[in-house]
Amino acid sequence: MHSRELLGKPVSNQIKDSLYDRIENLFKKNIKPKLAAILVGDDPASRIYVSSKHKTFLKFNCLSEIHEMKENSNEKDIYTLINQLNNDNSIHGILLQLPLPNHLNSKRILDWISPNKDVDGLHPMNLGNLLQGNPKFVPCTPYGCLEILKYYNIDVQSKHVVIIGRSNLVGKPLMTMLSQKFGIGNSTVTICHSYTKKLSEYTKIADIVIVAVGIPCLLKGNMVKKGAIVIDVGINRINDDSKKGYHIVGDADYESLLGKVAGITPVPGGVGPMTITMLLHNTILSAEKSII
Ligand code: NAD
Repeated sequence: MHSRELLGKPVSNQIKDSLYDRIENLFKKNIKPKLAAILVGDDPASRIYVSSKHKTFLKFNCLSEIHEMKENSNEKDIYTLINQLNNDNSIHGILLQLPLPNHLNSKRILDWISPNKDVDGLHPMNLGNLLQGNPKFVPCTPYGCLEILKYYNIDVQSKHVVIIGRSNLVGKPLMTMLSQKFGIGNSTVTICHSYTKKLSEYTKIADIVIVAVGIPCLLKGNMVKKGAIVIDVGINRINDDSKKGYHIVGDADYESLLGKVAGITPVPGGVGPMTITMLLHNTILSAEKSII
């Protein structure tokens, strides 16, 4: 069977194209969408993510600032910074780059970000609104997954979607949206996690499998039915002898799924490019809401 490669780039480009006019309209009202990112510690991957978000905002003539904090920062220091950013009217989006160093409680810290500037959509109030079907900000990665499904005309209504992974960042927001009766949704959703026994008994009966676990190549070709759709959220670094010293693989075993599934997002190049685009989208939305 021919497996369609569900690339993120055309989806992301289409969304970015639709944002130019909205940014122009904000400029006319003397508003420049501005993101403030908080980076705590020296995690190299987090540094790369924050830097690419920053570059994307600048490319769109939006503003972006990075607040770097030392690995041993305490919660009081972070609270002081978040409070200052919450009260700065020129800032429309605040992003706390996760994961945080182990001594910090990310759940508590996320609560301090104003829900009006929580462009990552992870504040309990925003996650609660999402659960009620009335989201202000949709978390960026799950939002990106839905946009991919929409762009490639993959019908999810009445389909059985199996999500592997139940994180607040990916699995739970996806479960919430896909099972609801708004926008893209109305699916029957099964959520699997580390305590699920016989995972493949669920994945084999899925029309769509979304995998967000963080285990390289967990989902194999013999675990899905012919013609299924696979959305691979995973980003795993595999060390190698290349100049860079590593390469990236997803949570799906691409090679063994190719030829069996109807469509699959590659890693890299699938869900990855969507996250920053949806962050830009949410920050522009926040800037628009600031003048209503
Ligand atoms: P997480 O560690 O918070 O959650 C992992 C989930 O996987 C947990 O719910 C756990 O129960 C489940 N799990 C663990 N082992 C399992 C197993 N053997 N079988 C079934 N389920 C199992 O991770 P996360 O933050 O949701 O991220 C998941 C993956 O997605 C990671 O690789 C991460 O790097 C990637 N990610 C990518 C993007 C992006 O922009 N593309 C954004 C966020 C996360």
